[in-house]
Amino acid sequence: MAKIHELSAVLADQIAAGEVIERPASVVKELVENAIDANSSEIDIKIEEAGLKLISVIDDGDGIASDDVAMAFKRHATSKIIDRQDLFKVHSLGFRGEALPSIASVADVTLSTSTGGEGTEIHISGGQVIEEKPAVARKGTTITVKDLFYNVPARLKYVKSVNTELSKITDIVNRLALSYPAISFSLTHNGRELMRSAGRGDQLQVISGIYGISNAREMVKIENHTDDFTVSGYVSLPKLTRSSRSYITLLLNGRYIHNFQLTKAIVSGYGSKLMVGRFPLAVINIQMDALLVDVNVHPTKQEVRITKEDELTELISQTIFNRLASENLIPDAAENL
Ligand code: ADP
Ligand code: MG
Repeated sequence: MAKIHELSAVLADQIAAGEVIERPASVVKELVENAIDANSSEIDIKIEEAGLKLISVIDDGDGIASDDVAMAFKRHATSKIIDRQDLFKVHSLGFRGEALPSIASVADVTLSTSTGGEGTEIHISGGQVIEEKPAVARKGTTITVKDLFYNVPARLKYVKSVNTELSKITDIVNRLALSYPAISFSLTHNGRELMRSAGRGDQLQVISGIYGISNAREMVKIENHTDDFTVSGYVSLPKLTRSSRSYITLLLNGRYIHNFQLTKAIVSGYGSKLMVGRFPLAVINIQMDALLVDVNVHPTKQEVRITKEDELTELISQTIFNRLASENLIPDAAENL
């Protein structure tokens, strides 16, 4: 007798959720990235109890057409890529079509959306559609995730204290705000506003909002390029340092990434100007041909594979080194903050 059978869609989604949705901050990241991909200019994030009770993301983006709403919650369903060619030159933050079905399989989700005309509201809980109905909605999308991991007790146990989870949420929202200075972000926890960015397109202004105006004043602008890469951003003067690398933000084609070699390149650009165990504040934007970067390495897409990584490493450290060498010759970027 045959013993092998296909898993149900809900179970398959819950398994995928194990990789994509590790904790409340992963939900925030995925939902905000969807709002960014939808061309939003304002994204408001509301959280209760570090996201375990409620996460709500409200955007003013393109919205989802009524016919597409249920499809958005199907696994591997996406509007962002169509064929293999697209996979090699991803221009959106999402493309795997995994986030919404994963989240909906481990929480209670309500999404209301409109592309401008009549809207739609869908309620899905534990992967089951409870209701889908027409709704009055302004253009954009509001998604509310309640009772995260209510049906995955092991995951719920793994989630740490409210403070730890909240700091992870704040961290990811800050990095997304740094990546998209032209979008206005706000984050509210238990009714208290924790951060807001103006959305005026000025990255230094976002840095100032997150790290404080006096720190922003001690950062200088960098810019340089080779045929393959353009590097720009802000780095702190050697007198402004921290005891961890977590004040370094690497943004590759608008995506916040983790990359040890490039982080090291930033630090090595300071040469002997940093004491051992001290690290700068930095926000580095890397622009490169999407064909030369593979973002399909890990489900969360924070690890990427870069062709010619050594050339980029050299460009980053040299650019910072040269900029700091001329520190006294060029006025601080932040002088007019
Ligand atoms: P992916 O982002 O990888 O495409 P998701 O599961 O995150 O997969 O989302 C599925 C689809 O739902 C997206 O491709 C997009 O078409 C639609 N979508 C999700 N969130 C939004 C949003 N906030 N605004 C507009 N469309 C959205
Ligand atoms: Mg997505």
